Amino acid sequence: MTYNSTNLQKIAHNIDADDSTHEFWKDWRWQIKHSIRDISTLERLLGISLPESYREKMEETTRTFPMSITPYYLSLIDTGDYENDPIFKQAVASPKELAVEGYDLADPLSEDLDSPVPGITHRYPDRVLFLVSNTCSMYCRHCTRKRRVGDVDSIPSEPEIRAGIEYIRENPEIRDILLSGGDPLMLPDDYLKWILEELHSIPHVEVIRIGSRIPVVLPYRITSDLVSVLSKFHPVWLNTQFNHPKEVTETSKKALHMLADAGIPLGNQSVLLAGVNDCPRIMKELVHRLVANRVRPYYLYQCDLSEGLSHFRTPVAKGVEIMENLIGHTSGFAVPRYVIDAPGGGGKIPVMPNYLLSWSVHKVVLRNYEGVICTYQEPEHYDRITCDGNCQDCRLQLKMDNADESKVVGIAKLLADFDEATSLVPQDTERVDRRNE
Ligand SMILES: *Cc1c(COP(=O)(O)O)cnc(C)c1O
Repeated sequence: MTYNSTNLQKIAHNIDADDSTHEFWKDWRWQIKHSIRDISTLERLLGISLPESYREKMEETTRTFPMSITPYYLSLIDTGDYENDPIFKQAVASPKELAVEGYDLADPLSEDLDSPVPGITHRYPDRVLFLVSNTCSMYCRHCTRKRRVGDVDSIPSEPEIRAGIEYIRENPEIRDILLSGGDPLMLPDDYLKWILEELHSIPHVEVIRIGSRIPVVLPYRITSDLVSVLSKFHPVWLNTQFNHPKEVTETSKKALHMLADAGIPLGNQSVLLAGVNDCPRIMKELVHRLVANRVRPYYLYQCDLSEGLSHFRTPVAKGVEIMENLIGHTSGFAVPRYVIDAPGGGGKIPVMPNYLLSWSVHKVVLRNYEGVICTYQEPEHYDRITCDGNCQDCRLQLKMDNADESKVVGIAKLLADFDEATSLVPQDTERVDRRNE
């Protein structure tokens, strides 16, 4: 017993008073079976008593957005100050979730619109999101797919998964698969192995990524059997979601070490959450604990516009402030990229403070993290390479056979020498309509 061990023993004891060994506590199936799904059990296990009217509102909330908390994650709550506890806020239903704002959306990222077959979201040219599980061990209160939580708490059918795999097989431009859900690591080892085997056998699939919060909320699921399944299909990457330094417990560390030792590169995708981690000092402590455990901070997400999340949202300014406090102040590889996932399916848009202050033909003016303003002299001579998209004619050494097949998209298209486009124009403006008349 390591972290917060009194809490842990008390909770284990209250759930299953007959078992004196506490070995069951480390059994992930036991954890799932004993997940806390109602308010009165929550109160009993935490030894707290909520005001009557508040309890009623919480119960009402769980009827719209169900609750489920693993005993392990529950044991991390500081019962003496639970109202301010970051674990409590992420795990326990709050009546604030029922306050839906006018601009809240059921599917803010339009994942359903960009879905060619059920379970697949194909938004970017070379990679897809593949939802292979509808189940989670804990229902995060800030879930972006909150509309789905609990209502289809089952494994997608095998034919559905097969259809997703077929889509990937038939589209050779897809080189990167992001398995998500639900939590893919909630699937039985055999089933997960089958999916990985199928994907791994597709020649154009270069990398498989798993998005999972299991190392945070149910680290006991990271068994040596599971790790050996994952490591059969390298390169397998895993991105998890630590949001607060308190979550990096000895138990979580052990799970992370098992994964890293199996050669699985680990990343972290935090969500910026009001009252949980909207503080530069908390975020810096978190990224330091992550890199110390071989987890590379990857993204810091602005909280999405999903229904029921309004109390978690911060102004974008808070994210910029956090980035200002990280870039330059700590190791470059400890700094995540702050992104806003654009409503309507625009994808992730990076946001950060400005470092390029001004520009002349000869010089750029930059500032660093300390506020030092400096100039960088542009080169007097530069033999610019005009690219016609054909590597065979180029003096640079990468002779890509298929370079002329690659399409340029977006702003990169405007920059390309070999593309004639001089502007990008939104499709349905009145001006465009007038031209077409
Ligand atoms: C986030 C996301 C990806 C992966 O994006 P990366 O920036 O490569 O991590 C792919 N598809 C969808 C729909 C996504 O939301």
